[in-house]
Parts: sequence; C-alpha cells; structure tokens
Amino acid sequence: MTMKKNECVECASQNVHFNEKDQQLVCRDCGAIFEELTPKEEKKFEKAHDQK
Ligand SMILES: [Zn+2]
Repeated sequence: MTMKKNECVECASQNVHFNEKDQQLVCRDCGAIFEELTPKEEKKFEKAHDQK
C-alpha cells in the first residue's frame, strides 16, 4: 500500500497533521497515526519485495 503524503490511508481524509515532535503523521478525522518511513526502512521494504 502506498501512502500519499498528507492523505490518511484509513479514511482518505486530507486533514492530516504532521507532529514534528514525534515525527508522526496524525489524521485529525479518524485519529490514525502514521510513522514516517525513514530512507533506511524504505530500502529494506524494497529489498523484501525483490525476494520472491
Ligand atoms: Zn483518517
């Protein structure tokens, strides 16, 4: 699943606030919290996808 920036994957709301203190994206409509993927984690994710 690909997450668009500033769009909630749970309710598709664009009322998403980035909490700089916690480095998290928080949806103000449904309260879902999304942690930002670090470049390292994204690389790991791609690697996992290459293994079939
Ligand atoms: Zn939401």
